[in-house]
Amino acid sequence: VPSNVSPQRVFKIVFIGDSGVGKTSFVQRFCNNTFRESFSTTIGVDFQVKSIILDDRVIALQLWDTAGQERYRSITKQYFRKADGVICMYDITSEQSFKNLRNWISSMKESASDDCVLTVIGNKTDLCPEDDKRVVRQKDGATLAAEYDALFFETSSKESRCIMEAMEAIARILQEKE
Ligand code: GDP
Ligand code: MG
Repeated sequence: VPSNVSPQRVFKIVFIGDSGVGKTSFVQRFCNNTFRESFSTTIGVDFQVKSIILDDRVIALQLWDTAGQERYRSITKQYFRKADGVICMYDITSEQSFKNLRNWISSMKESASDDCVLTVIGNKTDLCPEDDKRVVRQKDGATLAAEYDALFFETSSKESRCIMEAMEAIARILQEKE
């Protein structure tokens, strides 16, 4: 979508989850179609915007990535302010990142508005082509997501798998809500 086209709707979506699961990579892949192997903490950038077309409407998605605060669990209430959606991400090769999901979701529930749409994403599927290195089973991710009435996807930012599908599904739900 060209940048001179003004969107009909703007939705704010914030990312949470352990450091290293791939939140920044997901945002980079979705917004700029790039991927970097190196781990770098984003500093200073609040959010990026990408517009998509959904049923002939231009929808701007404002994606809020942490600037490394998740390492210190210092994500503030302010971060969730006016969020339409929250993406809670884990790494399917990290048991710990999956275990921490419940803590992330409860901090979201404490701070976000009640009608905020939650999505759970298991990232790095490219690392488990044969499911051999997989630590978190797809079924377990889906079960946890269902418990919280959340959408669920497994993605790879590296190989660009399911990124667009996930974001479109979220945008669709948000659009249909109002
Ligand atoms: P964040 O701390 O959650 O923002 O995580 P980053 O996006 O910085 O990613 C942490 C590390 O995981 C980086 O080295 C990335 O290159 C790598 N990474 C992120 N997403 C993927 C993915 O889908 N597949 C693979 N193989 N590596 C990934
Ligand atoms: Mg990051």
